[in-house]
Amino acid sequence: MSMTPFTRMEDRGFDLEARLETLEDATLKRSLSPVDRVAERGYFAAPAGGGLPVLESDEALVFAANNYLGLTDDQRVQDAARQAAATVGTGAGASRLVTGDTMVHHDFERLLAETKSTERALAFSSGYAANVGTITALEPDVIFSDELNHASIIDGCRLTSAETVVYDHCDASSLRSKLEARAATAEGAGESWLIVTDSVFSMDGTVAPLTEICDLAEEFGAWVMVDEAHATGLYANGGGVVQAEGLEDRVQIQLGTLSKALASQGGYVAGSEALIECLINDARSFVFSTGLAPPAAAAASEALHIARHSDARERLWENVAHLRDGLESMGYRVLGESQILPVLVGDREDALALADGLRERNIVAPAIRPPTVPEGTSRIRVVPMATHDQNDIVTCLEAFRAAGTDIGLR
Ligand code: PMP
Repeated sequence: MSMTPFTRMEDRGFDLEARLETLEDATLKRSLSPVDRVAERGYFAAPAGGGLPVLESDEALVFAANNYLGLTDDQRVQDAARQAAATVGTGAGASRLVTGDTMVHHDFERLLAETKSTERALAFSSGYAANVGTITALEPDVIFSDELNHASIIDGCRLTSAETVVYDHCDASSLRSKLEARAATAEGAGESWLIVTDSVFSMDGTVAPLTEICDLAEEFGAWVMVDEAHATGLYANGGGVVQAEGLEDRVQIQLGTLSKALASQGGYVAGSEALIECLINDARSFVFSTGLAPPAAAAASEALHIARHSDARERLWENVAHLRDGLESMGYRVLGESQILPVLVGDREDALALADGLRERNIVAPAIRPPTVPEGTSRIRVVPMATHDQNDIVTCLEAFRAAGTDIGLR
């Protein structure tokens, strides 16, 4: 029997260079910092004042981190991580359902459930995994999603067979009309509906109208899931916007990350006993992923404790008010209503020039441009931290004044 010699018919691979060139041509290619610049910082540089990370020099003040309470370089948080690494280990070593379950995880989950006023909480390996795992585990028939929801919510929706209905950003009347339209269809009967929203939106600083959303959810029989990634640890009692608005009993799923105010890495879901038990069984990003690293859980516990019992939150909100007032009195338009202060510039080149001008004055606050935000709404995303002192805020304001004047923005 003769063998047909294998001949290569055509290239079935991937032209990665062409893909990168397309990005480069559209000035959309992103890169990590040049390694020599990162290396200059070394492993142990922990500059005071602005907290980590500092990009280029020790004098730079970072006004762009999500480390809102400045706790990543807090001694107590670092000690908690160190102690967990020394006693429990650097990694969980397996999924929680196999051998990766430790008291560090349970302690964190208990503290979080208490803060969130829920029966239970569950740690995930990231906020991304929490969103994707929870939405897919719930298997809703229809998901009503804010148009600016985080990518991990969008990806969770894509991974289900649910129909996703997108409503206008933070617009309860748009949500109402979508709910009404769906209820009027034959399919509307007998379906499970999930309304999902970020509480604080990271690029706009807006806060979802959660009370109105809960009113609508109750009227139409839907469940509400709130991603508190940018709010956890910052609002009432160290909780999120759900706590600030007293909605603990009306929001079925509270969810977030440990990587922002909680100064660590990982994600969480808080809710009823039944919800958490279902996630332990059905959330594939929980079941098939190694348990959260114990030092990350321990650091988050300590940070949550500090968020609840120290004046860090107060200091953050004072800095937010000072910075917002200063920027507005200089004529800048500041969007949103949270700790995230997006300074609207408009043109993408102007935003880049303003960010460069700030950087020359040792203020790190990046320009956010399309496609991250719509054309014509480029902005500088300014985020104070609890660890900035009054001088830091004044330095930041002075930099905005001078850099804006230089490029004729004000
Ligand atoms: N949700 C929101 C609103 C976020 O901003 C983020 C992180 N940028 C996530 C979820 C994902 O969290 P993590 O970084 O822990 O994966």
